[in-house]
Amino acid sequence: MAEEVKAICKVCGRAANANEFVLDASFGMMACPMCIRDKGNKDKLEKEQQKRQEDDQKKREENEVIVTKGDPEVESAYREKQQEIEKEREKALKVKKLDENKVKYTCQKCHYEFIYKLDKNSPSNCPYCGEKVQSFVVE
Ligand SMILES: [Zn+2]
Ligand SMILES: [Zn+2]
Repeated sequence: MAEEVKAICKVCGRAANANEFVLDASFGMMACPMCIRDKGNKDKLEKEQQKRQEDDQKKREENEVIVTKGDPEVESAYREKQQEIEKEREKALKVKKLDENKVKYTCQKCHYEFIYKLDKNSPSNCPYCGEKVQSFVVE
């Protein structure tokens, strides 16, 4: 009947069963099971901390991307451009489409309505007052 041999751990000074000691590379000596367990926890903690730092870094990078996307100057320039396009559209003379090649054009000067042929680009002047036909948007 083998008696359990106790040994004192050189790392922590605790007594543990001699056959449970493990040569641990990070301690550079035999360490008791409790030291190994503590070390494992420490490793885990360190890994978790590292992961947290990496996550933080990733989050920061994501925020930076969003900040770049939301650059106020870029955004306001974009909005201005959109507003300009919108204004141009509103300003543009709108004509009603009658068929594939005809639209109903209203003279901007005398308000005379006449058929404008898209295929022939005619007439180029209002038949009533002679005002030049403006460029328009077909609705
Ligand atoms: Zn120990
Ligand atoms: Zn006219």
